[in-house]
Amino acid sequence: MIEYEPVIGLEVHAELQTNSKMFCSCAVVDNTRSEPNVAVCPVCAGMPGVLPVINQQAVEMAIKVGLALECTINPTSLFARKNYFYPDLPKGYQISQYEYPLASNGVLRIHTSEGDRTIRVLRAHLEEDTGKLTHVDNYSLVDLNRAGVPLLEIVSQPDMHSAEEARAYGMELRAILRALGVNSGDMEKGVIRFEANVSVRPRGTDILNTRVEIKNLNSFRAMERAIIYQIEQQTLKYERGEKIVQETLGWDESRGETYSQRSKEEAHDYRYFPEPDLPPLIVENAWVDQIRASLPELPKARLQRFIDQYQLTPYDAAILVQEASVADYFEAAVKAVDQQVTARVIALWITGELFSWMKQAAVEIEAIKVGPESLAALLQTTARGDINQNTAKNVLGKMLESGRSAGDIIKADGLMQISDNDAIVQLIDRVIEANPGEVANYLAGKETLANWFFGQVMRQAGGKANPQVVRAELERRLSALKTS
Ligand code: ZN
Ligand code: MN
Repeated sequence: MIEYEPVIGLEVHAELQTNSKMFCSCAVVDNTRSEPNVAVCPVCAGMPGVLPVINQQAVEMAIKVGLALECTINPTSLFARKNYFYPDLPKGYQISQYEYPLASNGVLRIHTSEGDRTIRVLRAHLEEDTGKLTHVDNYSLVDLNRAGVPLLEIVSQPDMHSAEEARAYGMELRAILRALGVNSGDMEKGVIRFEANVSVRPRGTDILNTRVEIKNLNSFRAMERAIIYQIEQQTLKYERGEKIVQETLGWDESRGETYSQRSKEEAHDYRYFPEPDLPPLIVENAWVDQIRASLPELPKARLQRFIDQYQLTPYDAAILVQEASVADYFEAAVKAVDQQVTARVIALWITGELFSWMKQAAVEIEAIKVGPESLAALLQTTARGDINQNTAKNVLGKMLESGRSAGDIIKADGLMQISDNDAIVQLIDRVIEANPGEVANYLAGKETLANWFFGQVMRQAGGKANPQVVRAELERRLSALKTS
């Protein structure tokens, strides 16, 4: 029985968050919020006689991505016309880089359950997005807001061999684009779109068999499921002696199946030729160096720094660096506390209490009412013993709802913790006196009642007693009873 190995490559189209479109001065607008056809001019509407102009900001963003992916930034790249007819493409061709892309031969390093992998990046090139069609009954509506929005197409080599690796690649690339500030990573809005090329081959060989291309992968879960589905289908076909047809597939999320969209077109179907209206794109070394010097810290480097500098577990660090805004929040909170509160404690509060509240309220960290300094103040108060852990959780909930400070809430609600030993000893005495039966049982050997006494004391204190002090004093008192 032959064992088969999947061979996977990913093509990613990422819109660049520039102010204006790729070849004209129309604004780039949020397609899900804007009225249709409000950001359109003769250039992006494909009128005859107009001339495109290359958007410098788009080139700069593309160079950023190229550098982050350790690509060669080619000093000269060329735009070409990719000819095809479709109603969302007013010019009848897409301007795209073809033989001479802006960036080539990079790598993306990913982490999987099987270890670290280096995936080669073949190229990253600039092009323009198409418009959007909405199909209604027997006609279609055309919205050209998106037509001409800068797109960066990033193509990997077929270096991945499992759905997990493809997912890790997709997530890492998305994190890099977000960290660079060139793309929001919002897959639901379609600003980043994934396509997977999938084939299988007998394990141990290096042949490249016929592959299929899966489109419409609008979540990482969909990507993983679609790839696994195709691996199974193709393996089955080879086992039956059937042939794989090269084609473009869609993914039906509800049925959990791929479906055929069209037989795969070849490059020559597009009759590529150099765009006569645009000069070669020349990128000076000095500009590339300047952009390189301005690159922010990338997620992978930040992850390692969080582990080294703050002694976080790789797991916690990975969660924090997934969103640059969360990582920034964490670092600001760390800066705002003294040594009593460790970075690890702050990480746990953010990934625990804060995240679960944010998830329930469906808000991002930028929009919450508790800034990093306010969280730091709460944790500082807790570390001093003014309130205990449970109270702190309740206080944080109130802070998030109201935006009030920890100090205000603690004062107004009388939540200050009882740490005073004398007061706690009095509470313990009261509990012991009121429950002679339990005391007798405890002395007769039912040791687990110690926890019950603890609970009673905490209840008497309205949950505000310092639990460490209660435990210590209670232990002292109970062992005194035993020896008396
Ligand atoms: Zn325009
Ligand atoms: Mn493309």
